[in-house]
Amino acid sequence: MLAVEDPATGQRITSVPNAGRADVDEAVRAAVGAWPAWRATDRHTALMSCAVVVEEAAAVLAPVLTEEQGKPLREAEAEFAKAAARFRYFARLRLEPQVVGDGRIEVHHRPLGPVAAITPWDLPVQLAVAKLAPAFAAGNTVVLKPSPHTPLTTLHLGRMLAEVLPPGVLTVLTGQDPLGEYLVSHPGIRKIDFTGSVPTGKRVATAAAAALKRLTLELGGNGPAIVLPGTDPALIAKSLFWSAFANCGQIGIAVKRVYAIGPAYDGIVEALAALAEKVVVGDGRTPGTQMGPVNNRSRYDRVTDLAEEARARGARVVTGGRLDGPGYFFAPAILAEAHDGMRVVREEQFGPVLPIVRCSTVDEAVGLANDSSPGSCGSVWSTDEQRGAEVARRLECGTVWVNEHLALPLDEPFPGSKQSELGGSGDIAGNTEPFVVHRHPPARN
Ligand code: NAD
Repeated sequence: MLAVEDPATGQRITSVPNAGRADVDEAVRAAVGAWPAWRATDRHTALMSCAVVVEEAAAVLAPVLTEEQGKPLREAEAEFAKAAARFRYFARLRLEPQVVGDGRIEVHHRPLGPVAAITPWDLPVQLAVAKLAPAFAAGNTVVLKPSPHTPLTTLHLGRMLAEVLPPGVLTVLTGQDPLGEYLVSHPGIRKIDFTGSVPTGKRVATAAAAALKRLTLELGGNGPAIVLPGTDPALIAKSLFWSAFANCGQIGIAVKRVYAIGPAYDGIVEALAALAEKVVVGDGRTPGTQMGPVNNRSRYDRVTDLAEEARARGARVVTGGRLDGPGYFFAPAILAEAHDGMRVVREEQFGPVLPIVRCSTVDEAVGLANDSSPGSCGSVWSTDEQRGAEVARRLECGTVWVNEHLALPLDEPFPGSKQSELGGSGDIAGNTEPFVVHRHPPARN
């Protein structure tokens, strides 16, 4: 069995099955068996039923998500609401054949077969459904493996969803790694849809290469935010702050480093620190909590180490830091006078510590922001929206916002860039392979 821990107390909540190779074989066999009938079904009703299940599950499972992940209850509820909306959105989508050329060439899409879906621990419900909804809409079956840090909610939700789906269409497997490795390398898996860190993503890509499996990777980011000269801190500070610290800083596409240019610098540091000091950090079950604990011991220690290393290299810890236990509580930390010689600037912290780098020019800020191998998402903050958009186009990111960050409507593409993304995530096309039919009347000769 695999123990599930409450990050607010450091205590074990319960245990879930620790699946092994035999369980992977059984789940993939069921997914292979269910696929022919599932791909031939009109899946609209099934996806709408999934939306209802997720909506109704929230009352029971949002508290479970808070218990194992740490986030405040209203954020856990928001995950369920977003997930239900995603099932509804994909229930309506179809990939219609295209007709090209002289009108006799048709481009169709066919589903791929069993998909291995693998999720991290920051947004367990939202990210699971971001994989399930397009995979089901395309006609694929899924074996879903949540993070060993947050297996419980996904396991319960998977059982509820399985009741409105044909047998074998969805199996959730919980367990310690190497479970993920067994799953992605199973010969019955035709596509891997993975969200997690860059190093694990590279291992997954290597496993996929052996059989040239279709692959979607959504990987770590080190999202830069650039604050242009002349920006009024009072106008942007709150939105910028929560773009970095939502979900206790544990969001792949969040702001991970700030570059503030010229005289804007001191005002930004001051405004972000003032907001950080007011945040109510505590148990996610307690009403009024705005930020829960860091999800697990290893991330808690890593965030502590990164903040300490930055301080030792000259950063000024304006506010925040590790709080006394029990539980993995960490007050949101603002690190002023940060620079790219610090690991907290060069590496993704994925936690509640925000480095703010002082820059003299826009070119310097853009150069530093782009000097990073991940390229998921970034943002530019400016009183002048037009100027902000010009700088946004220079950032090497898949998505760049001007005066916001994190907003992703369901119909917006999510391309990613550099080492943050591969394979087009979250859409039906990425869950299919196209094929072409040329139609001609028989030649009379
Ligand atoms: P991780 O890479 O350690 O683990 C992710 C998942 O992969 C887990 O379920 C894990 O059990 C599994 N896994 C581990 N080894 C595997 C293997 N060899 N084969 C297959 N699966 C394996 O990442 P994490 O610590 O759980 O999550 C944090 C990371 O996720 C951060 O880097 C964050 O930026 C990233 N993330 C990215 C996005 C995005 O949209 N790009 C969204 C959320 C999180």
